Amino acid sequence: MPPNTATATRPRRPAKAGRAAAAKRGEGQWALGYREPLNGSEQMKKDNDGLAVRDRIVDIYSKRGFASIDPQDLRGRFRWYGLYTQRAPDIPGGRTASLEPEELEDSHFMLRVRVDGGHLGLRQLRTVAGIAKEFGRDVADITDRQNIQLHWIRIEDVPEIWRRLEEVGLSTTEACGDVPRVMLGCPLGGVAEDEILDATPYLDSLAAEVLGNPEFSNLPRKYKTSISGCAKHCTNHEINDVSFVGVVGPDGEPGFDLWVGGGLSTNPMFAQRLGAFVAPDRVAEVWRGVTGVFRDYGYRRSRTRARLKFLLADWGTERFREVLEKDYLDSALPDGPAPAASPAYRDHIGVHRQHDVPGHGACYSVGAAPRAGRTSGTQLSIVADLAEQAGAGRVHTTAQQHIVVLDVPEKAVESLVTALEDEGLPTRPSQFRRGTIACTGLEFCKLAIVETKARADWLAEELTHRIPELDTPITINVNGCPNACARFQVADIGFKGMMMRATGPEGDTQGGDGADGDVEGFQVHLGGQLGTDAAFGRKFRGLRVRADELADYSERVVRGYLARRADGESFAAYAARAEQDWLT
Ligand code: SF4
Repeated sequence: MPPNTATATRPRRPAKAGRAAAAKRGEGQWALGYREPLNGSEQMKKDNDGLAVRDRIVDIYSKRGFASIDPQDLRGRFRWYGLYTQRAPDIPGGRTASLEPEELEDSHFMLRVRVDGGHLGLRQLRTVAGIAKEFGRDVADITDRQNIQLHWIRIEDVPEIWRRLEEVGLSTTEACGDVPRVMLGCPLGGVAEDEILDATPYLDSLAAEVLGNPEFSNLPRKYKTSISGCAKHCTNHEINDVSFVGVVGPDGEPGFDLWVGGGLSTNPMFAQRLGAFVAPDRVAEVWRGVTGVFRDYGYRRSRTRARLKFLLADWGTERFREVLEKDYLDSALPDGPAPAASPAYRDHIGVHRQHDVPGHGACYSVGAAPRAGRTSGTQLSIVADLAEQAGAGRVHTTAQQHIVVLDVPEKAVESLVTALEDEGLPTRPSQFRRGTIACTGLEFCKLAIVETKARADWLAEELTHRIPELDTPITINVNGCPNACARFQVADIGFKGMMMRATGPEGDTQGGDGADGDVEGFQVHLGGQLGTDAAFGRKFRGLRVRADELADYSERVVRGYLARRADGESFAAYAARAEQDWLT
């Protein structure tokens, strides 16, 4: 048997769907008998499973150093353990597209620590912080998928880092790659007073079952999961491959509404409801089923069409559900209700009453906003100390690049709020600081075209200073390239990094290709949002903004919104009806 052929949950009756889909044979779907790799990534996975690289890292590469690493492992299988080479210093974004991978990469790594559900105890947080300080030049980024990313990691240190992480129940296994990546969960699962149900036990047991399981270690592409009972829908079910969304079921018991096929990147699509209710005790079975459909029927010819969303778009929800239920589940799922109306603005910033903790009396959650997700090992250590002093034992990460201290006794809330504020982690941040996120960008990412983290922080500070009167949420998502790691399509103001030709008197509005004199800029997407009125942002032909004009442009657009908005009108609603010259 080839090392990475998944066999444990073969579809029980593939023939019917197979016949119906014969026309798609050329997409390389395993279930249609197409097992020959059709691109380099598929070949790499067939040659040797991504999970197999761990032993080589421990036994060979960490001992012999960076130069000893097989290129297929370095640029392929290392992802299965959360390892990417980071961008070599001082390579401008204009050269990204023209350089070979070996010219772009540094000998240091980004290491993604997987934090399923964003759940971190203090010992875990201190361990990650310690690793960042000792091995990662004190950089630690909270991602918008609740992970913590470290940088400047040397291959020689990876086994020791893994040992420390695993000692406290953390891992980098399948943090990247064509696998089930970190599973999003509400950071307030089990403590939020308004949650539909606590999804934490189902998420935890599923993550434990799936992590490193060869049955799912060769999917057609990355695979994103959200399992949450959060009333605010803070884990963004609309843009995951598979989402379990808390609802009260047909019999009055809480469970989940099943959504599939969401994803952004260069061809964004919202997930769709299958109309099926999933009782909590069937979450694992249904997740295995949906993931099995993806593994077996997902497209493996072209990487750009390999996400589950493309299969769903071709099949439609009815057929997807039929194949799922007939071929992958023990029994059909009952029809179920849609989730309650979903807010567009979703975070857990600030002080909120939570369920009491025995012995602590009344307790609160305290959410704070780092600068566009950027923290440090030093800062995370301090947060752990502050949480402990407050009598709290957990610090969770959110999908908005925030942190939340849980179980804070009432008497300790104000001192914790003050201490976090002093540490540069405001719990009552400005709307701009609260709503601004950024991807990794040019600082470390080999795909980046522009700088993002420092720029997003600067932009939020600048706008806070210029428009202190803003009284309503606005999200600003800053991305370094079209890959949408920071979700620019669903932001009020989404910025997508690009090079611009700075030849005209007004900085010009043409795209650039990295030639001398080109400058960093952004294509603008306006009025995107998630929630009940989910929509991708509007873009206008030629609407691009030079990086050094971001604040001026954003100020102009936000001031226009404040001047023209109707009572209670959100920025997204305003942008949807705005005339072009209000937004350009
Ligand atoms: Fe890198 Fe592009 Fe993703 Fe930003 S959006 S982290 S630049 S791949």
